[in-house]
Amino acid sequence: MTVDAVLFDLDDTLLEYEQNSRDVLSASFDRTGIEPFFDLPDYLARYDEFLEPGIGVDEQRANCFAAIASEWGYGEETGRAVADAFAEIRDHSRVRYLPSAAETLETLAGSHALGIVTNGSPAMQRTKMAALRIEEYADAVVFAGHDAPAKPNQEPFERALSELDSSPRHAVHVGNPLETDVSGAKAAGLRTV
Ligand SMILES: [Mg+2]
Repeated sequence: MTVDAVLFDLDDTLLEYEQNSRDVLSASFDRTGIEPFFDLPDYLARYDEFLEPGIGVDEQRANCFAAIASEWGYGEETGRAVADAFAEIRDHSRVRYLPSAAETLETLAGSHALGIVTNGSPAMQRTKMAALRIEEYADAVVFAGHDAPAKPNQEPFERALSELDSSPRHAVHVGNPLETDVSGAKAAGLRTV
């Protein structure tokens, strides 16, 4: 089957933050004057529990920090204050391509319709794409959770393919993690990487 369209996830597929997340968390505790009571692995271990359709990453993180704070006896508001600081300190323009991602886009752009299907607010995700000039390669961009329900819902994939005049049989989605990107794209009938 000929593939005429390739969809990509953004975060940790095409790009990653330059700022180390552990440093951002540490700076968030500093800024709020709260003694650090959890570390990055504690957050990452529970990240998936707080994935919800239609919820952006800042809200998801705040819900996670609130739950951790509550369990440690600090109260939810303390967790939310740290999460607010985290969102302020995190600089969405400080991103870099993952190895070979730029070359992949450059190569495929000559022969395939390319789309971006990303969970996250348009402002945040556009800032990242602008920093790396990704929109120059993208013939369609869908901000899932805003333009359509969040991945793993299949609608954002279908919307991107519709904009590219393609169909699931002729398209591939490249993304992570398994739970949102692979499950969602498979549900929409695409092959996945
Ligand atoms: Mg990703």
